[in-house]
Amino acid sequence: MHSARDAIEQLLLPAECALCHALLSYASSGRVVCAVCRHRWRGVRPPWCGRCGQPEPHFGPCRLCTDWPGALRVVRSAVWLEAGARDAVHALKYGALARIADALAEAVAGIALPERDAAWLVPVPLGRQRLRERGYNQSERLARALARRWRRPVLDLLTRVRETATQTALTPEARLANVAGAFHVRNGECGVRSERAPANSALRIPHSPLVLVDDVFTTGATLAEAARALEQAGARTVLGVTFGRAILPDFT
Ligand SMILES: [Zn+2]
Ligand SMILES: [Zn+2]
Repeated sequence: MHSARDAIEQLLLPAECALCHALLSYASSGRVVCAVCRHRWRGVRPPWCGRCGQPEPHFGPCRLCTDWPGALRVVRSAVWLEAGARDAVHALKYGALARIADALAEAVAGIALPERDAAWLVPVPLGRQRLRERGYNQSERLARALARRWRRPVLDLLTRVRETATQTALTPEARLANVAGAFHVRNGECGVRSERAPANSALRIPHSPLVLVDDVFTTGATLAEAARALEQAGARTVLGVTFGRAILPDFT
């Protein structure tokens, strides 16, 4: 499906950057985003909290990840969510161009994660209504593009059982409360399970590390809640990657 659509896009669309519409040189005509736009993306770099990847606070321990479930060990983002990267996320979410996911995945693919070569990728799901409106899950597109680069499988393990209100409150605590109970682990036989089951149930959570994939990290509340659902289903190691990371006002 994807490759056929990609091929059609490549045939019909002139080779221009999906973000700035500059014509692409012959050498980069296979790309979706031009080099100028990609170079505007500012990578997230250390020093950071070893767990959540947020720049370390000036005083005391990191507050962002203290309430995370134990299974969620390392989360990293590729670039800061500034003008250029924000346009890229917008194009991934609302653009018709499926191949834009590959440009974002290229940036995410450079993230070093422990046990990456043994991991399974798990896209953060959309609620049913939002999925119907958009027609696709942008995080799944990103996960599949990343899977091709990392040569790791995608496991569509999670469902979103509750739409969450737009997150306007910015404290990590408020955000965690907002997404509480939003995710369930998919049951192979009956869709969504309704209550906690032991780890050796029919869910068959792999022992391999699971890497949650999402487009944007704001406070990590969504990833933390998704990881909590996986942990309750028996996952021991959950990691997370996102393309963008919001620049937070100092909430400490
Ligand atoms: Zn461009
Ligand atoms: Zn942290």
